[in-house]
Amino acid sequence: GEHGAEDHLSFPKSKALHERACQTLAGGVSSQFRAVGSPHPMFYTHAKGARIWDADGHELLDFTLSQGPCILGHSHPELIRRVIESLQSGQLFAGQHVDELELAEAIKGCVPSAERVRFAVSGSEASHALLRLARHVTGRPKFIKFIGHYHGWLDNVSFSVNPPRDESNTPPAPVAWGGGIPASLAEDVIVLRWNDLDLVEEAMSAHGDKVAAIITEPVMCNQGCIEPLPGFLEGLRRLCDKYGTALIFDEIITGFRLGAGGAQGEFGVTPDMALFGKALGAGFPLAALVGKEKFMAPLANGQVYHAGTLNASNASIAAGRAVVEVMGRNNGEGYRHVRETGTRLRDGLAAIGEEGRLNVRVQGPGAMFHMGFSERARALSYEHVLDYDKALYSRFCQGMLAHGIRLIERGLWYVSLAHTDDDIDHALVTAREVLEEMGH
Ligand code: PLP
Repeated sequence: GEHGAEDHLSFPKSKALHERACQTLAGGVSSQFRAVGSPHPMFYTHAKGARIWDADGHELLDFTLSQGPCILGHSHPELIRRVIESLQSGQLFAGQHVDELELAEAIKGCVPSAERVRFAVSGSEASHALLRLARHVTGRPKFIKFIGHYHGWLDNVSFSVNPPRDESNTPPAPVAWGGGIPASLAEDVIVLRWNDLDLVEEAMSAHGDKVAAIITEPVMCNQGCIEPLPGFLEGLRRLCDKYGTALIFDEIITGFRLGAGGAQGEFGVTPDMALFGKALGAGFPLAALVGKEKFMAPLANGQVYHAGTLNASNASIAAGRAVVEVMGRNNGEGYRHVRETGTRLRDGLAAIGEEGRLNVRVQGPGAMFHMGFSERARALSYEHVLDYDKALYSRFCQGMLAHGIRLIERGLWYVSLAHTDDDIDHALVTAREVLEEMGH
């Protein structure tokens, strides 16, 4: 590159603030996923469009989008205006409001499985509620989840989120995700390799009459970014129908990002229930659990409880309405922009990768995708994701940050409505420079 080390950004104020934060905030952060970041967790002051400013005053081009939510970019004028307007008539009624109903109707209108909608605050509680509904409706205790999938931090699903490599060929035992998870819960969790329909078929023929639900990310986004193999989601649908098991799509990342109908709309496979969050709320606390009438009925008749003081607060609902409307304008032009812009970025990174010797790999739909370094051309499963060279990617992230580009360290890139072609060109030029610095 033409720039010397003297041009590289440094972050002394963020570093000092992080050290101070560690004395008071547990781990210096408010979410475990923020306890990462090179060279240390960063402090930010403001953000606008595709850019965010850190405590040292640097303007950074942002591909983290706050871990996905900011689909409209940061501080989108119409979003902020509508949220402020909603707040001028109150912040929370703890009763129904028309905006909430209209957002639910809009979701019902575009998400195939959404015969009924219930709003919540976080994806974690939404997956919890849907598993509870599946267990109640089927009268069965177990569920299948896939290795490397993340459905929130609550106990039920905190198994095999990022387990160590398992060399055994036998079906693996669920591995608790950190401490404090009751070991007894593992009895009701069957963990399987994703994208391998034979394994699911075997597990269902052995335990199908005890399996309440199969829960899956329709695109595996929390480890790598792996799309379903042709027929995989259809196969899950078929097995769930055969055994009377609920199929749950966790659309927290894919929802209102791949398209208005989520992954279920894109892939044409309709689950029994699904959960939405992140992009739906554009950075405000909003999640939605949706499903077929049969599975949602226990919420209506009060046999299954789901509650929340802060559910469907005015600001969150206003944000959700802004997302659905702004992204959906002109036949979903917003989704097309995000997909096309992200695809150009993804393919540009792949092309730069091909020029060098660092085994740059990119994969995933354009609206979000994964980048890593691996000898393997394409990852199809969690085991393959373990082959990415994490230390090398961490160096790449540090290099990009030193050049003013903010990335997620585990390799996922998010693109928003606010990213322009110029932003993509700039990111590509910078990525080439950083890779050259790394000896590409
Ligand atoms: N499901 C998926 C696929 C996610 O990526 C996440 C969050 O990253 C969650 C569930 C949990 O959502 P929340 O962080 O809103 O609790």
